[in-house]
Amino acid sequence: MSSHNELREFHWLIGMLHSINVGLIILDKNFNIQMWNNFMANRSGIKPEQAMGKSIFTVFSELPRDWLERKINSVFLLGARAFTTWEQRPYLFKFKNYRPITGVSDFMYQNITFLPLSSPDGTIDHTGVIIYDVTDMAVNKEELEEANRQLSRLSRTDKLTELNNRGYWEECLVQEHARFLRARQPCTLIMFDIDHFKKVNDTYGHQAGDEVIRQTARTLQLTIRKTDIAGRYGGEEFGVVLINTKADNALILGERLRKRIEGLTIKYADFIIKYTISLGIAELTPQMSTHKQWLEASDQCLYQSKQNGRNQSTVKPSQ
Ligand code: GH3
Ligand code: MG
Ligand code: MG
Repeated sequence: MSSHNELREFHWLIGMLHSINVGLIILDKNFNIQMWNNFMANRSGIKPEQAMGKSIFTVFSELPRDWLERKINSVFLLGARAFTTWEQRPYLFKFKNYRPITGVSDFMYQNITFLPLSSPDGTIDHTGVIIYDVTDMAVNKEELEEANRQLSRLSRTDKLTELNNRGYWEECLVQEHARFLRARQPCTLIMFDIDHFKKVNDTYGHQAGDEVIRQTARTLQLTIRKTDIAGRYGGEEFGVVLINTKADNALILGERLRKRIEGLTIKYADFIIKYTISLGIAELTPQMSTHKQWLEASDQCLYQSKQNGRNQSTVKPSQ
């Protein structure tokens, strides 16, 4: 190749490196900038003539110096590429994200590659830093993840009460049952049901009935601890798993809940509604080989409470 052609190719190459849609910086061993392409100039507002020959840390004072020095020194030392993704570090250079479509993020997410650049004699005396704008991908992924989180929250949640729905709550019950078999931490289940709820619906209407169910769930949530697991088991039937709790303490909590609900006055439209609940309480025992047996035990106690006149708690006697 003639030297004229070589020179021409060299110019093409430089022209290309300047116009490609990724950031390209070439640094020497002292972190001085040897190349600063148009992408870098446009995004940072720092022109090549302001950057060339200067230390990257002078030109960009906000860079995480220790981290970047370590990264680049390892490229020099090992002669191997290094990477960092937006998931590890959202950006290295804080550039505004100005694209209208991805206006959700106000900075540019970046993937970065560090390349060892060897000179003709084989020594590595420069590093190429390539900055990819991955804002679209990152934003899409974050939106997708948020949508998935919302979906999975929705699929676990009862619409009317925002408690765990029956499906998810029962999964938790299975888990707590299994955990008990391993760890033997005491665990107690309370099931409760609104008394004469049909009468509430018949007297005040279904909407008023819904409000009673909502207020019951709210009172329940205000009464239990964060670690307890509450769910809507049926229409007006609820369950709570009390972690690390024996039957006697569960009874104290159950009675507190019962009295709170007895004391509630629900105003709906022009109506004033008073109502009560009945509870069944069963501590988990090693004899209950499935979660269903645990559920049945507290359901039987709940049935007893109804039989004995409602508005009361029944605890499964310990054997
Ligand atoms: P008991 O004291 O024996 O529990 O009597 P009860 O009237 O509460 O009897 P039961 O549990 O059989 O009645 C439940 C009623 O709850 C029947 C159903 O129409 C009503 N229900 C179920 N789900 C909902 C709901 O989401 N909203 C409303 N408003 N009513 C519901
Ligand atoms: Mg009922
Ligand atoms: Mg019922």
